[in-house]
Amino acid sequence: MNYHFTTTKAHIVLNGGTVEELFIDEALQVQSSNPFKGDMDIDKLEALIKKHGAENIPFVRLENGTNLIGGQPHSLENMREIRRVCDREGLMLVLDASLLADNLYFIKTREENCKDMSIREITRKIADLSDIIYFSARKLGCARGGGICTNSEEAYLKIRELIPLLEGFLTYGGMSIREMEAITVGLEETMDIDMVNQGPQFIEFMVTELQKKGVPVVTPPGGLGCHIDARAFLPHLSATDYPSGALGSALYLVSGIRGMERGTMSEQRAENGEETLAHVELLRLALPRRVFTMSHIKYAVDRIAWLYEHRELVKGLTFVDEPKILRFFFGKLDTIGDWHTDLVTQFKKNFVDNP
Ligand SMILES: *Cc1c(COP(=O)(O)O)cnc(C)c1O
Repeated sequence: MNYHFTTTKAHIVLNGGTVEELFIDEALQVQSSNPFKGDMDIDKLEALIKKHGAENIPFVRLENGTNLIGGQPHSLENMREIRRVCDREGLMLVLDASLLADNLYFIKTREENCKDMSIREITRKIADLSDIIYFSARKLGCARGGGICTNSEEAYLKIRELIPLLEGFLTYGGMSIREMEAITVGLEETMDIDMVNQGPQFIEFMVTELQKKGVPVVTPPGGLGCHIDARAFLPHLSATDYPSGALGSALYLVSGIRGMERGTMSEQRAENGEETLAHVELLRLALPRRVFTMSHIKYAVDRIAWLYEHRELVKGLTFVDEPKILRFFFGKLDTIGDWHTDLVTQFKKNFVDNP
């Protein structure tokens, strides 16, 4: 994989498989000027195949706009190279296209050879390079549900057996007709550059404004959302204090803004109970298109900047109820010490008592 996704990894591990991360080295540099930090490292892919043998690798998975490392795109050229290796080795290429819309925009605006291609042409190329494409329609298409697409009859026949068992009958897969129609409209709208440019442009604006105030953020600006570097924001916390989660809680207290922890809390403990430390500690502030206005962004920037000035007040979190699988969804946490009270007291001093 160019990078894993939480639920995908949980499925693979649950089925006795392992995930191999084949990101390029720069993927983990929070601040960078590499336009395609989501690219797969082809040398690592080749070395992996050599080590394990193609017969022990069920598929290669590419994720558009790597969710966990700041919505960073891959290039079309990189996907072509992956395809070449897959063809040579007889490997299946599976694409997670949930964040395709942003990735299309970045390919068009950042990849020299694709500047004159339409969004539809780029989508066609990406589809032709994939054996199986799956996506969450909550993101791709702004609808509900999702889809699995393939033009491989072999894959289709295998999937067909499982659909009635896991989803619903083959013709509707557990979704309503209305929802499928909404997805169709949403996918069609995604072919419009003036639709897919909105998210990335909002994100770029927010990242630039936060940088002006010295707040550490993921660069270059990616898709999905503006990502704050929690490790740099809260250097006095250790990884097991869950800095991204603590930052998310603190921001909620002083602004009502709900961010998403993307760090160690989103990882699963090893069999022996040891923490799996995340490569990066990010707080994601998702900016879905058609949801926010400029004043939302300015408000968020203002509060984040205030929090940055008072960052030493923010301390860690600890689990009081920790599920074994995907703990970040349903787990319950408490603050380590009473820092949340101190933070709220300071907040009131600045915003309520002395507005
Ligand atoms: C959000 C996301 C998913 C899961 O989507 P759901 O609609 O929550 O099932 C899968 N893959 C990627 C890359 C995502 O960003």
